[in-house]
Amino acid sequence: GPRPVAAFSRIGEENAFAVLARATELAARGRDIVNLGIGQPDFATPPHIVEAAVKALREGHHGYTPATGIAPLREAVAADVHRRLGTAIDPGKVVIVPGGKVTMFAAILMFGEPGAEILYPDPGFPIYRSMIEFTGAKPVPVPIREENGFAFSAEETLGLIGPTTRLIILNSPANPTGGVTPKAEIDALVKGLEKHPHVAILSDEIYDQFLFDGASHASLLTYPDIRGRLILLNGWSKTYAMTGWRLGWSLWPDGLFEAMRKLAVNCWSCVNAPAQYAALAALTGPQDCVAEMVAAFDRRRHVVVEGLNALPGVSCTLPKGAFYAFPNIAGTGWSSAKKLASALLEEAGVATIGGPDFGIHGEGYLRLSYANSEDNIRKALGLMGDFLQQAR
Ligand code: PLP
Repeated sequence: GPRPVAAFSRIGEENAFAVLARATELAARGRDIVNLGIGQPDFATPPHIVEAAVKALREGHHGYTPATGIAPLREAVAADVHRRLGTAIDPGKVVIVPGGKVTMFAAILMFGEPGAEILYPDPGFPIYRSMIEFTGAKPVPVPIREENGFAFSAEETLGLIGPTTRLIILNSPANPTGGVTPKAEIDALVKGLEKHPHVAILSDEIYDQFLFDGASHASLLTYPDIRGRLILLNGWSKTYAMTGWRLGWSLWPDGLFEAMRKLAVNCWSCVNAPAQYAALAALTGPQDCVAEMVAAFDRRRHVVVEGLNALPGVSCTLPKGAFYAFPNIAGTGWSSAKKLASALLEEAGVATIGGPDFGIHGEGYLRLSYANSEDNIRKALGLMGDFLQQAR
């Protein structure tokens, strides 16, 4: 039968979804599985947000909205940014999208073509590389190193920029490592980028409210000099436990906004209307739900990291952001992190993701999402401990 054009042979996957499917399949067969694989909050969306969507449906918000989103929501995004970061952004350049991934896809499409290079974090969210390859551009991994606190190194990143670099993708707080890039490093990176005015920046800040131990987030929005080439990715999926609603927001510079608006008109028309009213309630309603979820993640973070460090051959630094732990498994005797992740799922009943699913620099690590109850985390660690002991 018909086959898609060659670009589709270069498109990748997010293995977390395959692991989720396998874990669900094993559970359906009666196996007891603890899932520390997929990166989604285990909390339900706060009730006042759900109610806003129900109300919007009852009130008849059933039609298309403007392609870039309803005006009050775009304004609420700008007000929220101002409240949290003290920075003004133009609501007229905000685009409401069906999930953070869509911002990523659009930004990479705008700069990716054969002959172009795009820098992205490795280990990093796997979709960056997949989409870069889809466009025919050359993916240039920026190594993210444990000895550097899993932060971007400004010097190393800047050193990878060349004459054909079109876009650089930043992500802090980071998936899969939980690393937070300190402000001094972002300052140095922004300063260095002055010498490369042709390079656009995609800053994925979807975990910007998941910060621990007083860590602060240096948003790229707070650097006025690069605003003309900054695409900001954020959304509701993680902050308000809304992964299944498919909602995100992005900010586009003047020169790119029209391209993004037209892409929206061509591809998705608008984000589903009731979800936009829910997003509005999320931003304008009480924020203690966010603080409570972050506090729960913080407690789990300690449980998971202490437990991991007690496992034979495993060491794990305390992540300062997001909701992932990225333990180093060099001492376990397992040379393939993917094989270990697979054995842990099949034999111990614990779903994790092998570091190589996030890039070549992820070998020797596992990713554990601690978006699960403390009891389940303790149980998973116990099972992992038994498995590693007997496999020694
Ligand atoms: N960016 C990062 C770094 C992520 O980890 C994720 C989700 O896992 C996304 C973006 C995508 O979020 P969404 O579910 O809103 O598409």
